[in-house]
Amino acid sequence: MTGRTKITLDESELPRQWYNVIPDLPSPPPPPLHPGTLQPVGPEDLAPLFPMALIAQEVTADSYVPIPEEVLDVYRLWRPTPLYRAHRLERALNTPARIYYKYEGVSPAGSHKPNTAVPQAYYNAAEGTRRIATETGAGQWGSALAFSCAQFGLDCEIWMVRASYDQKPYRRTLMETWGATVHPSPSPETTAGAKVLADDPDSPGSLGIAISEAVEVAGGSADTRYALGSVLNHVLLHQTVIGEEAIKQFQAAGEEAGPDLIVGCTGGGSNFAGLVFPFLREKLAGRINPVFRAVEPAASPSFTRGRYAYDFGDTAGFTPLLKMHTLGHDFIPDPIHAGGLRYHGMSPLLSHAYELGLFEAVAKPQRECFAAGVTFARSEGIVPAPEPTHALAEVISEAKRCAETGEEKVILTALCGHGHFDMSAYQRYLSGEMDDFELPQDRIDAALTRLPALTR
Ligand SMILES: *Cc1c(COP(=O)(O)O)cnc(C)c1O
Repeated sequence: MTGRTKITLDESELPRQWYNVIPDLPSPPPPPLHPGTLQPVGPEDLAPLFPMALIAQEVTADSYVPIPEEVLDVYRLWRPTPLYRAHRLERALNTPARIYYKYEGVSPAGSHKPNTAVPQAYYNAAEGTRRIATETGAGQWGSALAFSCAQFGLDCEIWMVRASYDQKPYRRTLMETWGATVHPSPSPETTAGAKVLADDPDSPGSLGIAISEAVEVAGGSADTRYALGSVLNHVLLHQTVIGEEAIKQFQAAGEEAGPDLIVGCTGGGSNFAGLVFPFLREKLAGRINPVFRAVEPAASPSFTRGRYAYDFGDTAGFTPLLKMHTLGHDFIPDPIHAGGLRYHGMSPLLSHAYELGLFEAVAKPQRECFAAGVTFARSEGIVPAPEPTHALAEVISEAKRCAETGEEKVILTALCGHGHFDMSAYQRYLSGEMDDFELPQDRIDAALTRLPALTR
Protein backbone atom coordinates (compact mmCIF):
# COMPACT_ATOMS: atom_id res chain seq x y z
CA MET A 1 0.00 0.00 0.00
CA THR A 2 1.09 3.53 -0.63
CA GLY A 3 2.22 6.41 1.52
CA ARG A 4 1.51 8.66 -1.44
CA THR A 5 -1.35 11.16 -1.48
CA LYS A 6 -1.89 11.56 -5.23
CA ILE A 7 -1.56 8.61 -7.54
CA THR A 8 -1.24 10.10 -11.02
CA LEU A 9 -0.83 8.52 -14.43
CA ASP A 10 1.15 9.83 -17.37
CA GLU A 11 -0.78 11.09 -20.41
CA SER A 12 0.54 8.07 -22.28
CA GLU A 13 -1.50 5.86 -19.92
CA LEU A 14 -4.81 7.45 -20.91
CA PRO A 15 -7.23 4.63 -21.80
CA ARG A 16 -7.52 4.18 -25.58
CA GLN A 17 -10.86 2.38 -25.48
CA TRP A 18 -14.13 2.50 -23.59
CA TYR A 19 -15.36 -0.68 -21.90
CA ASN A 20 -18.82 -2.10 -22.62
CA VAL A 21 -20.00 -4.26 -19.70
CA ILE A 22 -23.03 -5.78 -21.50
CA PRO A 23 -21.29 -8.84 -23.08
CA ASP A 24 -19.91 -9.74 -19.64
CA LEU A 25 -23.29 -9.68 -17.86
CA PRO A 26 -25.19 -12.96 -17.26
CA SER A 27 -28.04 -11.58 -19.43
CA PRO A 28 -28.53 -8.46 -21.57
CA PRO A 29 -30.73 -5.55 -20.39
CA PRO A 30 -34.30 -5.37 -21.78
CA PRO A 31 -34.42 -3.12 -24.90
CA PRO A 32 -36.04 0.34 -25.10
CA LEU A 33 -39.52 0.10 -26.63
CA HIS A 34 -41.30 2.35 -29.09
CA PRO A 35 -44.25 3.80 -27.11
CA GLY A 36 -46.65 3.33 -30.06
CA THR A 37 -45.79 -0.17 -31.27
CA LEU A 38 -44.23 -1.51 -28.05
CA GLN A 39 -41.57 -3.04 -30.28
CA PRO A 40 -37.86 -2.52 -29.55
CA VAL A 41 -36.76 0.83 -31.02
CA GLY A 42 -34.57 0.57 -34.10
CA PRO A 43 -31.76 2.83 -35.29
CA GLU A 44 -34.20 4.66 -37.61
CA ASP A 45 -36.34 5.68 -34.60
CA LEU A 46 -33.32 7.28 -32.94
CA ALA A 47 -31.69 8.82 -36.04
CA PRO A 48 -33.51 12.19 -35.75
CA LEU A 49 -32.07 12.58 -32.25
CA PHE A 50 -28.59 11.02 -32.25
CA PRO A 51 -25.72 10.56 -34.71
CA MET A 52 -25.33 7.01 -36.06
CA ALA A 53 -22.02 6.43 -34.28
CA LEU A 54 -23.71 6.93 -30.90
CA ILE A 55 -26.73 4.81 -31.87
CA ALA A 56 -24.26 2.04 -32.79
CA GLN A 57 -22.54 2.41 -29.41
CA GLU A 58 -25.91 2.27 -27.66
CA VAL A 59 -26.46 -1.30 -28.92
CA THR A 60 -22.93 -2.54 -29.52
CA ALA A 61 -22.04 -6.13 -28.65
CA ASP A 62 -18.33 -5.34 -28.68
CA SER A 63 -16.55 -5.39 -25.34
CA TYR A 64 -14.38 -2.41 -26.24
CA VAL A 65 -14.92 0.68 -28.39
CA PRO A 66 -11.84 2.61 -29.55
CA ILE A 67 -11.68 6.27 -28.44
CA PRO A 68 -11.11 8.54 -31.47
CA GLU A 69 -7.83 10.49 -31.52
CA GLU A 70 -9.76 13.79 -31.67
CA VAL A 71 -11.52 12.86 -28.41
CA LEU A 72 -8.28 11.76 -26.74
CA ASP A 73 -6.80 15.16 -27.70
CA VAL A 74 -9.51 16.95 -25.73
CA TYR A 75 -9.43 14.42 -22.85
CA ARG A 76 -5.73 15.30 -22.47
CA LEU A 77 -6.73 18.77 -21.23
CA TRP A 78 -7.47 17.14 -17.85
CA ARG A 79 -7.14 13.35 -18.08
CA PRO A 80 -5.87 11.09 -16.60
CA THR A 81 -7.48 12.42 -13.42
CA PRO A 82 -5.81 11.90 -10.04
CA LEU A 83 -6.64 9.16 -7.57
CA TYR A 84 -6.17 10.42 -4.01
CA ARG A 85 -5.49 8.54 -0.83
CA ALA A 86 -7.56 10.43 1.79
CA HIS A 87 -4.90 10.37 4.54
CA ARG A 88 -6.34 13.46 6.23
CA LEU A 89 -9.93 12.25 6.21
CA GLU A 90 -8.74 8.91 7.61
CA ARG A 91 -6.96 10.75 10.44
CA ALA A 92 -9.98 12.97 11.11
CA LEU A 93 -12.14 9.84 11.46
CA ASN A 94 -9.43 7.92 13.33
CA THR A 95 -10.19 4.95 11.10
CA PRO A 96 -8.02 2.02 10.08
CA ALA A 97 -9.87 2.00 6.73
CA ARG A 98 -7.86 3.11 3.70
CA ILE A 99 -9.95 5.60 1.75
CA TYR A 100 -9.31 6.54 -1.88
CA TYR A 101 -11.16 8.94 -4.13
CA LYS A 102 -11.05 9.35 -7.89
CA TYR A 103 -11.40 13.07 -8.53
CA GLU A 104 -13.25 14.19 -11.66
CA GLY A 105 -13.56 17.84 -10.57
CA VAL A 106 -10.35 18.70 -12.47
CA SER A 107 -12.22 18.81 -15.81
CA PRO A 108 -12.94 22.25 -17.32
CA ALA A 109 -16.61 21.99 -16.33
CA GLY A 110 -15.76 20.67 -12.86
CA SER A 111 -17.34 17.20 -13.07
CA HIS A 112 -17.20 13.84 -14.86
CA LYS A 113 -19.74 14.95 -17.49
CA PRO A 114 -17.21 16.14 -20.12
CA ASN A 115 -16.09 12.47 -20.41
CA THR A 116 -19.25 11.89 -22.47
CA ALA A 117 -19.98 15.45 -23.66
CA VAL A 118 -16.71 15.53 -25.63
CA PRO A 119 -17.32 12.34 -27.65
CA GLN A 120 -20.98 13.25 -28.15
CA ALA A 121 -19.99 16.63 -29.61
CA TYR A 122 -17.26 14.97 -31.68
CA TYR A 123 -19.54 12.35 -33.30
CA ASN A 124 -22.22 14.98 -33.97
CA ALA A 125 -19.73 17.29 -35.67
CA ALA A 126 -18.32 14.37 -37.67
CA GLU A 127 -21.82 13.55 -38.99
CA GLY A 128 -22.71 17.13 -39.95
CA THR A 129 -24.83 18.25 -36.99
CA ARG A 130 -24.80 22.06 -36.71
CA ARG A 131 -26.57 22.48 -33.36
CA ILE A 132 -27.13 20.37 -30.24
CA ALA A 133 -30.17 20.88 -28.00
CA THR A 134 -30.14 19.59 -24.45
CA GLU A 135 -31.51 20.06 -20.96
CA THR A 136 -29.69 20.72 -17.75
CA GLY A 137 -30.82 20.52 -14.15
CA ALA A 138 -28.16 21.89 -11.83
CA GLY A 139 -26.15 23.11 -14.81
CA GLN A 140 -23.36 20.51 -14.74
CA TRP A 141 -24.39 18.77 -17.94
CA GLY A 142 -25.12 22.01 -19.75
CA SER A 143 -21.67 23.32 -18.82
CA ALA A 144 -19.98 20.13 -20.00
CA LEU A 145 -21.82 20.17 -23.33
CA ALA A 146 -21.27 23.90 -23.86
CA PHE A 147 -17.52 23.38 -23.34
CA SER A 148 -17.51 20.38 -25.71
CA CYS A 149 -19.53 22.11 -28.44
CA ALA A 150 -17.02 24.98 -28.34
CA GLN A 151 -14.23 22.44 -28.95
CA PHE A 152 -15.90 21.15 -32.14
CA GLY A 153 -17.54 24.34 -33.48
CA LEU A 154 -21.18 23.39 -32.75
CA ASP A 155 -24.00 25.64 -31.60
CA CYS A 156 -25.40 24.58 -28.24
CA GLU A 157 -28.91 25.35 -26.98
CA ILE A 158 -29.76 24.45 -23.41
CA TRP A 159 -33.07 24.22 -21.56
CA MET A 160 -32.22 24.80 -17.92
CA VAL A 161 -34.67 23.84 -15.18
CA ARG A 162 -36.27 27.14 -14.10
CA ALA A 163 -35.45 26.76 -10.39
CA SER A 164 -31.72 26.37 -11.18
CA TYR A 165 -31.83 29.08 -13.85
CA ASP A 166 -32.93 31.52 -11.16
CA GLN A 167 -30.75 30.13 -8.35
CA LYS A 168 -27.52 29.43 -10.26
CA PRO A 169 -26.79 32.50 -12.40
CA TYR A 170 -23.07 31.67 -12.48
CA ARG A 171 -23.59 28.25 -14.06
CA ARG A 172 -25.65 30.00 -16.70
CA THR A 173 -22.87 32.51 -17.32
CA LEU A 174 -20.35 29.67 -17.54
CA MET A 175 -22.40 28.05 -20.33
CA GLU A 176 -22.76 31.40 -22.10
CA THR A 177 -19.01 32.01 -21.79
CA TRP A 178 -18.48 28.79 -23.77
CA GLY A 179 -20.92 30.16 -26.36
CA ALA A 180 -24.16 28.34 -25.50
CA THR A 181 -27.68 29.81 -25.49
CA VAL A 182 -29.58 29.09 -22.28
CA HIS A 183 -33.41 29.06 -21.93
CA PRO A 184 -35.29 28.69 -18.66
CA SER A 185 -37.50 25.57 -18.72
CA PRO A 186 -40.49 25.45 -19.01
CA SER A 187 -40.16 27.94 -21.89
CA PRO A 188 -42.79 29.32 -24.26
CA GLU A 189 -40.57 28.32 -27.22
CA THR A 190 -41.73 24.71 -27.28
CA THR A 191 -45.16 23.06 -27.27
CA ALA A 192 -44.17 20.95 -24.25
CA GLY A 193 -43.01 24.02 -22.32
CA ALA A 194 -45.98 26.18 -23.30
CA LYS A 195 -48.35 23.45 -22.11
CA VAL A 196 -46.75 23.30 -18.67
CA LEU A 197 -46.76 27.13 -18.44
CA ALA A 198 -50.45 27.26 -19.34
CA ASP A 199 -51.22 25.02 -16.36
CA ASP A 200 -48.74 26.66 -14.01
CA PRO A 201 -47.09 29.95 -15.07
CA ASP A 202 -44.78 29.74 -12.01
CA SER A 203 -43.67 26.14 -12.61
CA PRO A 204 -40.16 25.60 -11.17
CA GLY A 205 -39.60 23.06 -13.96
CA SER A 206 -38.08 19.60 -13.75
CA LEU A 207 -35.49 17.61 -15.62
CA GLY A 208 -38.29 15.61 -17.26
CA ILE A 209 -39.93 18.79 -18.64
CA ALA A 210 -36.61 20.20 -19.86
CA ILE A 211 -35.84 16.91 -21.66
CA SER A 212 -39.22 17.13 -23.41
CA GLU A 213 -38.37 20.63 -24.64
CA ALA A 214 -34.90 19.77 -25.94
CA VAL A 215 -36.13 16.56 -27.61
CA GLU A 216 -38.95 18.50 -29.28
CA VAL A 217 -36.52 21.08 -30.69
CA ALA A 218 -34.04 18.44 -31.91
CA GLY A 219 -36.79 16.28 -33.45
CA GLY A 220 -38.18 19.26 -35.35
CA SER A 221 -34.99 20.36 -37.10
CA ALA A 222 -32.80 18.43 -39.55
CA ASP A 223 -29.46 19.94 -38.53
CA THR A 224 -30.16 19.80 -34.78
CA ARG A 225 -29.65 16.76 -32.61
CA TYR A 226 -30.15 15.98 -28.96
CA ALA A 227 -27.64 14.91 -26.31
CA LEU A 228 -28.24 13.27 -22.96
CA GLY A 229 -25.76 13.53 -20.11
CA SER A 230 -26.61 10.32 -18.29
CA VAL A 231 -28.92 7.25 -18.32
CA LEU A 232 -28.17 5.84 -21.81
CA ASN A 233 -25.73 3.02 -22.55
CA HIS A 234 -23.37 5.12 -24.66
CA VAL A 235 -23.07 7.67 -21.86
CA LEU A 236 -22.13 4.99 -19.33
CA LEU A 237 -19.71 3.56 -21.89
CA HIS A 238 -17.86 6.88 -22.23
CA GLN A 239 -17.58 7.22 -18.46
CA THR A 240 -15.62 3.95 -18.11
CA VAL A 241 -12.39 5.90 -18.59
CA ILE A 242 -12.80 6.68 -14.87
CA GLY A 243 -12.70 3.06 -13.74
CA GLU A 244 -10.03 2.00 -16.25
CA GLU A 245 -7.68 4.67 -14.92
CA ALA A 246 -8.55 3.81 -11.32
CA ILE A 247 -7.62 0.15 -11.86
CA LYS A 248 -4.14 1.18 -13.07
CA GLN A 249 -3.84 3.62 -10.17
CA PHE A 250 -4.72 0.94 -7.62
CA GLN A 251 -1.91 -1.19 -9.00
CA ALA A 252 0.47 1.78 -8.88
CA ALA A 253 -0.57 2.33 -5.26
CA GLY A 254 0.37 -1.24 -4.37
CA GLU A 255 -3.25 -2.17 -3.63
CA GLU A 256 -3.15 -5.30 -5.81
CA ALA A 257 -6.16 -6.85 -4.08
CA GLY A 258 -8.21 -3.85 -5.22
CA PRO A 259 -10.85 -2.06 -3.17
CA ASP A 260 -13.13 -3.94 -0.76
CA LEU A 261 -15.93 -1.41 -1.29
CA ILE A 262 -16.68 1.04 -4.10
CA VAL A 263 -19.24 3.76 -3.40
CA GLY A 264 -20.75 6.31 -5.76
CA CYS A 265 -23.77 8.59 -6.00
CA THR A 266 -26.47 7.90 -8.57
CA GLY A 267 -28.70 10.37 -10.38
CA GLY A 268 -28.97 8.73 -13.79
CA GLY A 269 -26.09 6.39 -12.94
CA SER A 270 -23.24 7.50 -15.19
CA ASN A 271 -20.47 8.41 -12.75
CA PHE A 272 -21.18 5.32 -10.64
CA ALA A 273 -21.20 3.03 -13.68
CA GLY A 274 -18.10 4.73 -15.07
CA LEU A 275 -16.11 3.91 -11.96
CA VAL A 276 -17.72 0.54 -11.22
CA PHE A 277 -18.03 -1.26 -14.58
CA PRO A 278 -14.31 -1.88 -15.18
CA PHE A 279 -14.00 -3.18 -11.59
CA LEU A 280 -17.14 -5.30 -12.18
CA ARG A 281 -15.40 -6.87 -15.20
CA GLU A 282 -12.50 -7.81 -12.92
CA LYS A 283 -14.88 -9.14 -10.29
CA LEU A 284 -16.90 -11.23 -12.79
CA ALA A 285 -13.58 -12.67 -14.02
CA GLY A 286 -12.77 -13.69 -10.44
CA ARG A 287 -9.71 -11.46 -10.05
CA ILE A 288 -11.00 -9.16 -7.29
CA ASN A 289 -14.02 -9.19 -5.00
CA PRO A 290 -15.27 -5.70 -4.15
CA VAL A 291 -18.77 -4.79 -2.98
CA PHE A 292 -20.38 -1.99 -5.03
CA ARG A 293 -22.81 0.43 -3.40
CA ALA A 294 -24.90 3.18 -5.03
CA VAL A 295 -26.09 6.11 -2.89
CA GLU A 296 -29.15 8.14 -3.86
CA PRO A 297 -31.01 10.99 -2.14
CA ALA A 298 -33.85 10.06 0.21
CA ALA A 299 -35.92 12.68 -1.67
CA SER A 300 -35.45 10.95 -5.07
CA PRO A 301 -34.94 7.25 -4.26
CA SER A 302 -35.27 5.43 -7.62
CA PHE A 303 -33.38 2.23 -6.69
CA THR A 304 -34.53 1.86 -3.11
CA ARG A 305 -38.20 2.86 -3.45
CA GLY A 306 -38.96 3.08 -7.18
CA ARG A 307 -40.47 0.36 -9.34
CA TYR A 308 -38.56 -1.61 -11.99
CA ALA A 309 -40.87 -0.96 -14.95
CA TYR A 310 -41.05 0.49 -18.44
CA ASP A 311 -41.46 4.27 -18.23
CA PHE A 312 -40.77 7.39 -20.24
CA GLY A 313 -37.46 9.20 -19.80
CA ASP A 314 -39.22 12.57 -19.95
CA THR A 315 -42.39 14.18 -18.59
CA ALA A 316 -44.28 14.72 -21.85
CA GLY A 317 -43.74 11.13 -23.03
CA PHE A 318 -41.67 11.80 -26.17
CA THR A 319 -38.86 9.36 -25.41
CA PRO A 320 -38.82 5.59 -25.92
CA LEU A 321 -40.01 3.49 -23.00
CA LEU A 322 -37.08 2.48 -20.83
CA LYS A 323 -37.12 -0.44 -18.40
CA MET A 324 -35.67 1.15 -15.31
CA HIS A 325 -36.13 1.91 -11.64
CA THR A 326 -38.54 4.82 -11.76
CA LEU A 327 -40.58 7.04 -9.50
CA GLY A 328 -42.97 7.78 -12.39
CA HIS A 329 -42.22 10.13 -15.31
CA ASP A 330 -44.32 13.00 -13.92
CA PHE A 331 -42.74 12.77 -10.47
CA ILE A 332 -41.30 16.15 -9.43
CA PRO A 333 -38.85 15.68 -6.56
CA ASP A 334 -38.59 18.14 -3.72
CA PRO A 335 -36.06 20.88 -4.36
CA ILE A 336 -33.05 19.30 -2.66
CA HIS A 337 -29.67 20.81 -3.39
CA ALA A 338 -28.14 17.80 -5.12
CA GLY A 339 -29.69 18.92 -8.41
CA GLY A 340 -27.91 16.26 -10.45
CA LEU A 341 -29.61 13.51 -8.47
CA ARG A 342 -33.17 14.77 -8.95
CA TYR A 343 -34.27 12.52 -11.79
CA HIS A 344 -37.32 10.25 -11.70
CA GLY A 345 -35.62 7.37 -13.50
CA MET A 346 -32.31 5.53 -13.66
CA SER A 347 -30.02 4.07 -16.28
CA PRO A 348 -31.70 0.93 -17.71
CA LEU A 349 -28.33 -0.82 -17.83
CA LEU A 350 -27.61 -0.07 -14.19
CA SER A 351 -31.20 -0.95 -13.25
CA HIS A 352 -30.72 -4.33 -14.92
CA ALA A 353 -27.42 -4.89 -13.09
CA TYR A 354 -29.19 -4.01 -9.83
CA GLU A 355 -31.92 -6.58 -10.55
CA LEU A 356 -29.15 -9.11 -11.17
CA GLY A 357 -27.88 -8.40 -7.65
CA LEU A 358 -24.54 -7.05 -8.86
CA PHE A 359 -24.56 -4.07 -6.50
CA GLU A 360 -26.34 -2.60 -3.48
CA ALA A 361 -28.15 0.73 -3.05
CA VAL A 362 -28.89 2.97 -0.07
CA ALA A 363 -30.63 6.36 0.29
CA LYS A 364 -29.37 9.30 2.37
CA PRO A 365 -31.06 12.49 3.66
CA GLN A 366 -29.38 15.69 2.50
CA ARG A 367 -28.24 17.07 5.86
CA GLU A 368 -26.15 13.96 6.56
CA CYS A 369 -24.67 14.42 3.08
CA PHE A 370 -23.76 18.06 3.58
CA ALA A 371 -22.26 17.22 6.98
CA ALA A 372 -20.07 14.69 5.17
CA GLY A 373 -19.19 17.31 2.54
CA VAL A 374 -18.07 19.73 5.24
CA THR A 375 -16.03 17.03 7.04
CA PHE A 376 -14.39 16.20 3.72
CA ALA A 377 -13.68 19.86 2.86
CA ARG A 378 -12.15 20.50 6.29
CA SER A 379 -9.84 17.49 6.03
CA GLU A 380 -9.06 16.98 2.32
CA GLY A 381 -9.56 20.59 1.26
CA ILE A 382 -11.70 19.95 -1.83
CA VAL A 383 -15.29 21.21 -1.50
CA PRO A 384 -17.37 18.44 -3.08
CA ALA A 385 -20.39 19.00 -5.29
CA PRO A 386 -23.64 18.21 -3.41
CA GLU A 387 -24.10 15.01 -5.46
CA PRO A 388 -20.94 13.15 -4.36
CA THR A 389 -21.52 14.19 -0.74
CA HIS A 390 -24.07 11.33 -0.82
CA ALA A 391 -21.27 8.88 -1.53
CA LEU A 392 -19.05 10.57 1.05
CA ALA A 393 -21.76 10.19 3.72
CA GLU A 394 -21.72 6.44 3.11
CA VAL A 395 -17.91 6.31 3.02
CA ILE A 396 -17.72 8.15 6.34
CA SER A 397 -20.23 5.87 8.05
CA GLU A 398 -18.31 2.79 6.77
CA ALA A 399 -15.02 4.30 7.94
CA LYS A 400 -16.53 4.93 11.39
CA ARG A 401 -17.71 1.32 11.55
CA CYS A 402 -14.13 0.28 10.74
CA ALA A 403 -12.91 2.49 13.59
CA GLU A 404 -15.06 0.38 15.93
CA THR A 405 -14.19 -3.03 14.50
CA GLY A 406 -10.56 -2.35 13.55
CA GLU A 407 -11.16 -3.54 10.01
CA GLU A 408 -8.65 -2.17 7.47
CA LYS A 409 -11.21 -1.94 4.74
CA VAL A 410 -10.09 -0.43 1.42
CA ILE A 411 -12.74 2.00 0.24
CA LEU A 412 -12.85 3.76 -3.13
CA THR A 413 -15.30 6.51 -3.99
CA ALA A 414 -16.09 8.67 -6.99
CA LEU A 415 -15.58 12.33 -6.19
CA CYS A 416 -17.35 13.24 -9.41
CA GLY A 417 -17.31 17.03 -9.10
CA HIS A 418 -16.40 20.08 -7.07
CA GLY A 419 -18.95 22.34 -5.43
CA HIS A 420 -17.65 25.78 -6.37
CA PHE A 421 -20.97 26.72 -7.97
CA ASP A 422 -22.97 25.37 -5.04
CA MET A 423 -22.09 27.85 -2.34
CA SER A 424 -25.72 28.84 -1.78
CA ALA A 425 -26.47 25.22 -0.83
CA TYR A 426 -23.48 25.09 1.54
CA GLN A 427 -24.54 28.44 2.93
CA ARG A 428 -28.03 27.10 3.70
CA TYR A 429 -26.52 24.07 5.38
CA LEU A 430 -24.04 26.08 7.44
CA SER A 431 -26.71 28.55 8.59
CA GLY A 432 -29.00 25.71 9.69
CA GLU A 433 -31.71 26.44 7.11
CA MET A 434 -31.50 23.13 5.26
CA ASP A 435 -34.29 20.58 5.68
CA ASP A 436 -34.45 16.84 5.07
CA PHE A 437 -37.22 15.62 2.78
CA GLU A 438 -38.59 12.20 3.61
CA LEU A 439 -40.62 11.30 0.57
CA PRO A 440 -44.17 10.24 1.58
CA GLN A 441 -45.17 6.85 0.18
CA ASP A 442 -48.48 8.20 -1.17
CA ARG A 443 -46.61 10.55 -3.52
CA ILE A 444 -44.65 7.66 -4.97
CA ASP A 445 -47.79 5.52 -5.21
CA ALA A 446 -49.67 8.33 -6.98
CA ALA A 447 -46.90 8.91 -9.53
CA LEU A 448 -46.60 5.18 -10.20
CA THR A 449 -50.30 4.88 -11.07
CA ARG A 450 -49.47 7.06 -14.09
CA LEU A 451 -46.84 4.67 -15.48
CA PRO A 452 -47.59 3.88 -19.13
CA ALA A 453 -49.89 0.85 -19.46
CA LEU A 454 -48.22 -1.89 -21.45
CA THR A 455 -50.24 -4.53 -23.22
CA ARG A 456 -47.61 -7.17 -22.65
C1 LIG B 1 -24.83 15.04 -13.18
C2 LIG B 1 -24.08 14.76 -11.98
C3 LIG B 1 -24.40 13.65 -11.17
C4 LIG B 1 -25.53 12.72 -11.45
O1 LIG B 1 -25.44 12.04 -12.68
P1 LIG B 1 -24.93 10.55 -12.79
O2 LIG B 1 -25.25 10.21 -14.21
O3 LIG B 1 -25.67 9.70 -11.82
O4 LIG B 1 -23.48 10.56 -12.53
C5 LIG B 1 -23.64 13.43 -10.07
N1 LIG B 1 -22.63 14.24 -9.73
C6 LIG B 1 -22.28 15.31 -10.46
C7 LIG B 1 -21.14 16.16 -10.02
C8 LIG B 1 -23.01 15.60 -11.60
O5 LIG B 1 -22.65 16.66 -12.34
